[in-house]
Amino acid sequence: MPPLTPHWQQPSHSDVQKVLYAAEKDSFTTKSISTVDLPPNAVFAKLAFPPCTLAEKATYATVQIGRDQHMNLNSDLVYINHGCVPSVIFDTSSLNVIVGPKGLKAGDELTFFYPSTEWDMAQGFDCFCGADTCRGFIAGAKNMKKEQLEGLWLNDHIKRLLEEKKAQAQGKNGQNLGNGTTTNGKVVRDEDAEDLVAQVLRQSLRQAELALQAAQKGLDTYLSHRATSSNGVAKGNGVVATQASAETLGRRGGEQRRGVTNRELSGEMGGDTKVAI
Ligand SMILES: [Zn+2]
Repeated sequence: MPPLTPHWQQPSHSDVQKVLYAAEKDSFTTKSISTVDLPPNAVFAKLAFPPCTLAEKATYATVQIGRDQHMNLNSDLVYINHGCVPSVIFDTSSLNVIVGPKGLKAGDELTFFYPSTEWDMAQGFDCFCGADTCRGFIAGAKNMKKEQLEGLWLNDHIKRLLEEKKAQAQGKNGQNLGNGTTTNGKVVRDEDAEDLVAQVLRQSLRQAELALQAAQKGLDTYLSHRATSSNGVAKGNGVVATQASAETLGRRGGEQRRGVTNRELSGEMGGDTKVAI
């Protein structure tokens, strides 16, 4: 954390936080220590307005709380450093600082994962948190790789912005997607490549195809059944049909034909035959 000139009364959170200031004035080594034991998910501090105020733009001393919204903390909470295994979470939807999944013990350093709130930090930095899972170069979530953000708690506005960024990347590479091919040269799986809307539309299309197949099968079955029962009626139709068949056979010079067609059944052929007689 760069040196700040506090304009608030210090200490601001003496009940839960102790700020250790750097020995040298220009050093960036200010850090915060918890003075309390708290279980996972407990509220460590509230991000109330005031002392928080909306900020017109992002600075190194603001926390992003929405797509285009930032706030000045105006308290010692600003001295909570970044960590890749953070001890607290800045939940900007509930405006609470929440204890991380490991809980908090007095003496633990207070850290939160900066990209969990920040989308586009003006200045990234190399992290030296020392964690096995240290994410290396820390910038806003926009400028970090997917693997660097994996497994870390992120605020809703960051998740939404990441989804939008993914959708935009897919839009530019639309012709390559859907087959597990490439986005910006990286191999991606189908489920990564396809957004939710595309998946829903694809399911609808599949259902429409199945409905079409079912309708076609139904029509075929009906027509074949109708043809069968038509023949059955004709066979039992006695005089006219039989007579017509016989006469037709005679007229056509011994054509090997039994039964009647639908046209004959309708009476047309019978009528013709009778007129011919
Ligand atoms: Zn780190």
